[in-house]
Amino acid sequence: MSDSENHKVTAATKLVSAGRRRKWLGVEGQKGSVVNPPVWRASTHLFEDCADLASGRPDEHGHFRYGRAGGPTQWALADALTQLEPGAHSTELYPSGVAALSIAMLCVLRPGDEVLVTDNAYGPTNWIALSMLSQFGVTAKPFDPLDLESFAAMISDKTKAVMLESPGSLTMEICDIPALASIARDAGAISIIDNTWATGIGFPALERGCDMSVMALTKHASGHSDVMMGSISAGKEMMKKVRLMTQFMGQVVSPDDAALVMRGLRTMGVRLEHSTRSATEIASWLQHRPEVTSVLCPLIPEGPGHAMYKRDFTGGCGLFSFLLKGDKADRARFIDALEHFGIGYSWGGYESLAIPIDPEHGRKLRTWPQGTNSDGAVGVRVSIGLEGTEDLIRDIEGGFAAMRSA
Ligand SMILES: *Cc1c(COP(=O)(O)O)cnc(C)c1O
Repeated sequence: MSDSENHKVTAATKLVSAGRRRKWLGVEGQKGSVVNPPVWRASTHLFEDCADLASGRPDEHGHFRYGRAGGPTQWALADALTQLEPGAHSTELYPSGVAALSIAMLCVLRPGDEVLVTDNAYGPTNWIALSMLSQFGVTAKPFDPLDLESFAAMISDKTKAVMLESPGSLTMEICDIPALASIARDAGAISIIDNTWATGIGFPALERGCDMSVMALTKHASGHSDVMMGSISAGKEMMKKVRLMTQFMGQVVSPDDAALVMRGLRTMGVRLEHSTRSATEIASWLQHRPEVTSVLCPLIPEGPGHAMYKRDFTGGCGLFSFLLKGDKADRARFIDALEHFGIGYSWGGYESLAIPIDPEHGRKLRTWPQGTNSDGAVGVRVSIGLEGTEDLIRDIEGGFAAMRSA
């Protein structure tokens, strides 16, 4: 698809056609093609002759040079992801979401610089900024993403990057990303968003003002809990820096993994639609349960930042949290009684998951959830998968019964 054609079609259609360039699907000089880009396993790429070798190749996707720069399978996936992130020029792939976050920060930070990290960030984002980068002379400070004035006051000449996330990991509040990104831009800082929750389909991050969109493809894109990968997508100038750092750091993903993620990507739209609908229903139901004190789900009107969700997002997913009336032992009885929810850290797979979450893993700069006393609150984060919604509701009811049985 040309760029102008790509702009016109719906996300559903892009998910089917993206990355399927004719030249990656067929054999030169032969009619016909296959549907999916084949798995090109390669470390060595061959040159035609010494003159070809001497003239070199552009250091971009689509040119055979050496395996570390990827091959057609990885290029096809990167191309597909670029088409799914409006405003992106290209995409780089990483062996995990955390690798993508590390590289994103390394691209734009130098000794003496400062990075501001949203207080609701994914845990490892904090330790990359606070622990790893401090070894290189970069200082990191958390900021409250719900307080635009303090954020604007905190930014200084030293601030070169701002880490954003919406909704927040665990706490699930939607933030005013267009406003935060615009404050960062005016101050000359690069805004990097972890867009794993919504993906480019649910939140066109670059169009909303961010400079770099990072995703853990491990979650929705892969969708089947069997492969780890991350990505960075951005505009042309930014991707020059990203590409260079990616090559310096020797970041490459296997063609087999790229093919798996590409397979997941094809059904990501219908999976997200199902789990968003199911999560909305379950969250609304939880809202009226006596065992629950708050439901932290931006999909429902009572959820944190729902109005901004309606304003800025075009889709969601099945990940949200809620707080239980009870203590940690009650919560353990609840979670252990669930039959359709596995206990695990990941999310975005076809199967539902639940994990306990505590306020100390939530916010540092304000009580959590907003406006309540989080002391003693016990939380659960669920990832709603593709099971029948009524089965999951019945399962949660069983969990509540087990919780009350003590
Ligand atoms: C899981 C996750 C990551 C990290 O991805 P990995 O592939 O597990 O390294 C980054 N950000 C968010 C919001 C995540 O949930």
